[in-house]
Amino acid sequence: MTILLNKINEVKNNIKQWKREGLKIGLVPTMGALHKGHESLIKKAKEHCDKVVVSVFVNPIQFGPNEDYDKYPRTIEKDLDVCEKNGVDIVFSPSPSEMYGENNRLSNTDLTFVCPAYNIVDCMCGKSRPGHFDGVATVVLKLFNIVNPDFAFFGQKDAQQLFILKKMVKDLNLDLTIIQCPIVREDDGLALSSRNTYLNTEERKNALTINKALKQIEKIYSTGVKDTKVLFDSAIAVLDKNLELEYLEFRSFDTFEPVEEIQQNTLVAIAAKSGKTRLIDNIIIR
Ligand code: AMP
Repeated sequence: MTILLNKINEVKNNIKQWKREGLKIGLVPTMGALHKGHESLIKKAKEHCDKVVVSVFVNPIQFGPNEDYDKYPRTIEKDLDVCEKNGVDIVFSPSPSEMYGENNRLSNTDLTFVCPAYNIVDCMCGKSRPGHFDGVATVVLKLFNIVNPDFAFFGQKDAQQLFILKKMVKDLNLDLTIIQCPIVREDDGLALSSRNTYLNTEERKNALTINKALKQIEKIYSTGVKDTKVLFDSAIAVLDKNLELEYLEFRSFDTFEPVEEIQQNTLVAIAAKSGKTRLIDNIIIR
């Protein structure tokens, strides 16, 4: 049976007991509005671990002032059903004040923040969302300290986040392993996202060309073309003109440096707005 906990101490008490019993603990951090992408992370966690904790927390410190913090979908009852169905042990859903205190301490003038390596933050999503990855790294480190997991599960969908968090674990000598999980898509290729619910029919149709552009890159690459400028142009030709492209980048997924020629383990990542909704997607070329 899944139990819902809102208090940090209640979670810690359960974890202490599980640790005493020598059980392997898995953590799946989410912002809720759970879909099949999240569910795939939970299933992976169930395979690897004896006990699984899913956190559901819309983290205020990772949203910019003009972003969708207030309107972000909150569906805790439905999320609990998904967790119950998948055999999750604890859903941890704290309030912002439980995580950050009552005093509106949401800036780094009075809250200790984790600042990930500048080189991997000052690009891609970090460029248009200043402070976003500081907020992500801070909440994830707090969740790691609360849950003390052996394994934590993150999606390749948020590839920059995944890279930053893997580096945080290494740089700060954290005693856990991050497991990378593949992107789950709709049948027509759209990457699942809690934000897809914002899209109207037309915007959703246009958004499909994001995945088409990535597929186009894979197709041209398979004919022997490695030059990322040529691949960039081939993708732009496929993207719907109504999308507002924020970036299309080619980076090594070993170093996060931009690459001019596709090599093994190259991340190809896109961010674009369809209407007002900002969407991201990527592929990793092996
Ligand atoms: P979020 O609730 O958006 O913060 O996402 C929580 C976790 O689910 C992150 O590790 C995401 O990368 C992962 N995730 C989100 N969408 C997908 C997807 N379509 N496929 C796989 N994982 C996903």
